[in-house]
Amino acid sequence: MFLRIVGCDGGPAPNAWCTSFLINGRLLIDAGCPASRLTSKDIQGIDTVLLTHAHWDHIKELPFLPPLHHTAASTPLIIAAPLDILTIIQKHVFIRDVWLDFSQPLDGAPPLLRYMPLAVGQPTVICGLRVTAVPGDHHVPCYGYLISDASGTMAFTSDTGPGSALWPRLATAPRPLALVAETSYPDGHEPRAIREGHLTPSLLNQAISSSAPFPDKIFLTHLKPEFREQVLQCVTAYPSPLWTPLTNNDGISWPEPN
Ligand SMILES: [Zn+2]
Ligand SMILES: [Zn+2]
Repeated sequence: MFLRIVGCDGGPAPNAWCTSFLINGRLLIDAGCPASRLTSKDIQGIDTVLLTHAHWDHIKELPFLPPLHHTAASTPLIIAAPLDILTIIQKHVFIRDVWLDFSQPLDGAPPLLRYMPLAVGQPTVICGLRVTAVPGDHHVPCYGYLISDASGTMAFTSDTGPGSALWPRLATAPRPLALVAETSYPDGHEPRAIREGHLTPSLLNQAISSSAPFPDKIFLTHLKPEFREQVLQCVTAYPSPLWTPLTNNDGISWPEPN
């Protein structure tokens, strides 16, 4: 699997880019910044947008993707997520009051997008990968994902507090296992993190320590821009390179080459 970090910041700020990851050039996880960061050729190569939840920082450039994806030869862009997420997108994003409904024919042309509901907890093959949605802990419908191919697994927490259903699933995920985990706030901000459904490095460490064996690698994402330096300072207390903060424009092959 090849993971391209299109955007990994926990909110907007100068030189910060909201959550978007591209796997194997075909599966886009969340749409915080793809229209700003990817070329039209990149976007036309995407098959499916996999959504974790409908918070703005994860969907803010989703409305622009269907027409950017469309070519004379293309099939509709697929938006995949559990049904509760898709319902929010259908009711509040792709509507005439604020944009266009690309799931319907426009001016006699075929629809530019198609919704793909995912069963929670059950693997679905998407873009040749086994994708399983697992409920997170974020006060709104929100899902982490286990994504596996024949050589290993990447697990994405999405936005979550300590109560995610993902932790126990990590123990049985096919290895090697890379965990892409949010750490929005620095250590010392646990009450706020728990209140908002987020993690600190310390909360993350507690959560995954209870679900042995430990992941083979932990990539940190969704650092709030205003706390980024403090989170990076906290992370020095955890073993490197096991704990590695992501950087925009990084590319990660998983499993990592020896
Ligand atoms: Zn969120
Ligand atoms: Zn977020």
